[in-house]
Amino acid sequence: MSKTCTARWVFPVSGPPLANGTVTVREDRVEAVLPHGERTPDEDFGNAAIIPGLVNPHTHLDLSGARGLIPPTDPDHFTDWLRGVIAYRRTRTPEQVQADIRDGLAECLRAGTTLIGDIASEGASWEPLAASRVRAVVFRELIGLGGERARQSWVEMVRWQTQQRATATCRPALSPHAPYSVRWALIQAACRGGLPVAIHWLESPGESALIETRSGPFVTFLSDLGIWDTAEPITDAAYTLAHGSLHAPQFLLVHANYQSADVNVRPNTTIVYCPRTHAAFGHPPHPFRDFLARGVRVCLGTDSLASNPDLDILAEARFVRSRYPDFPGDQLLRMVTLSGAEALGWADETGSLDAGKSADFVVVPLPDADAPDSHELLLADHAGERRTMFRGQWRSAP
Ligand SMILES: [Zn+2]
Repeated sequence: MSKTCTARWVFPVSGPPLANGTVTVREDRVEAVLPHGERTPDEDFGNAAIIPGLVNPHTHLDLSGARGLIPPTDPDHFTDWLRGVIAYRRTRTPEQVQADIRDGLAECLRAGTTLIGDIASEGASWEPLAASRVRAVVFRELIGLGGERARQSWVEMVRWQTQQRATATCRPALSPHAPYSVRWALIQAACRGGLPVAIHWLESPGESALIETRSGPFVTFLSDLGIWDTAEPITDAAYTLAHGSLHAPQFLLVHANYQSADVNVRPNTTIVYCPRTHAAFGHPPHPFRDFLARGVRVCLGTDSLASNPDLDILAEARFVRSRYPDFPGDQLLRMVTLSGAEALGWADETGSLDAGKSADFVVVPLPDADAPDSHELLLADHAGERRTMFRGQWRSAP
C-alpha cells in the first residue's frame, strides 16, 4: 500500500525543486518523486515544502542543560569559555546528563532532524538515540593529553570499538576531542579504528598558535589543568589532516574556523561549519565558500546549547542566508541534508528524496509570498510547526 503526498514545493535535493511535485511512500521507502500531474496525491500539505529529513552532524546533547549559562567569549579568550564548560560539566550528575540528552534530542526532533551526529562523553547518548525514532552516529568522545588519561581513553576506545554494535539506525564512531586535548598518538589510533572520526579543528586562533609555535593562551590553559608537561604530545596539523583523511572511513573537521582552505584532503573529509556558534564568538568570516570552491564538502552543524540558541539545523541555513544573500540556496539546503548524510556515512540511505531511500522527510510551512528562486521561500525565517516522516511513519499523528 503506497501513499502519495504533495505540497507547494518538493525539494528532492538530488534534483531541482518540483512545483506541486509528489512524493510516494511505500512502507518505509520512497517509491517515487515526480513532477506535478503524474500521480494523484492522497494528501496535500498546501503552502509548505517537502524536504529530506534534516541532518545535524554536530551536536553535544549532553550539554543541553547549559543553554545561556556559559556566554561565548571573543576569539582570543576562547579558553575562558572552555573553562566554563569544564566547570559546568563538573556540576552535572549522570541523571542530569541523561535528562539533558533527552531534552536536546526532543528539540532536534521538533526541528525535523532525522539524522544526528552526536559527540558524547562516555558515549552516554547511545541508548536514548538508539531507542528513538531517529538515525544517529554516536561519537564517543576521547580526551587525554597527559599519558595516563590518554591510556584510559585508549582502553575505553578499544572497548567501544569492539562492543558497541551498530543497530538499524544507530552507529558507533569516535571523537578525539581536539588537538589541544588529545595526545597525537591517540588521535592517530582513533583514525585507524575503522569508525567515523570527528575532531574539533582550529576553532580559535589560540589553537593554531599552540600547534605551530607551542605558545599562546592554550599553554596557560593546559598548565592550569596540570597537563602541560611537554610539547611532545601535541599533534602536527598537517599530519592529522593527512592521517585522518587517509584512514578514517569518514573524517569530520568540526569548525575549522582558522583552517586555510588550501589543503588537500580526500572525499571522506568534511568541514562542519557551525554558523551561529561561529558568529557568537565573533570569529572572522568562515572560509566555507573557499572549501566548496576547492571541491571540499561542507555541511552545517548546530554545535551544543552551550554556545548556540537552539538545535534547529534549518535555522543555521537561514542564518547563513541572512549573512550571505548571494550564496546559492540549493547549496545551503544540501548542506543541511545530503552533505551531512555523506559526512556521516548515511547517504546511501537518507539525505535526499530518491526512489529506494528511506522515507525520511519534513514538511516545512512556507510564507505567503512569491520568490524567483523557490529556495528563498524555504530559507526565509518563517515559524510554524514542522511534521516529520521517519522511515515511512509520521513522528506525530498527522
Ligand atoms: Zn562541538
